[in-house]
Amino acid sequence: MCIFCDIINGKAKSYKIYENKSTLAFLDIYPISYGHILVIPKKHYENIYSMDNEILTEVIKTVKTVTELLKEKLGINDVNIINSNGRIANQTVFHYHMHVIPRRENDNLDFIDEWWVNKYIKINDTNFNEIMNKLKN
Ligand code: AMP
Ligand code: ZN
Repeated sequence: MCIFCDIINGKAKSYKIYENKSTLAFLDIYPISYGHILVIPKKHYENIYSMDNEILTEVIKTVKTVTELLKEKLGINDVNIINSNGRIANQTVFHYHMHVIPRRENDNLDFIDEWWVNKYIKINDTNFNEIMNKLKN
């Protein structure tokens, strides 16, 4: 049982914005800004690790469509696109989804902005090389 699968099969209510063969875009029920949208694959995948590459491409294309709708219909030119994978990363619904969060001047979504500002960890050249060598192919 998955709440997003229930939305897809019509058992649970949702506010659909856009859909195609493999993806669905609908309003987040606890929006953090006006027009906060979720984009999901119609097939159940838990998160990025199990996600099919082709479906992932379809999802990001639908995200782009949604940003265009937000621009055309709501005049939104700024968005954050967020995707959390796994409990520690604060994923709460374990059906892959991307958040499209419209941003407006003085919208008080400081927690998103602060995420990036002055939050970097102290790291030196040795550390950078160590990480790079571990990760690169
Ligand atoms: P995450 O923390 O990235 O897993 O986000 C899950 C999101 O799903 C949250 O922003 C919830 O508000 C949203 N959500 C949960 N249940 C529903 C629902 N029935 N309809 C729409 N959005 C939902
Ligand atoms: Zn599901």
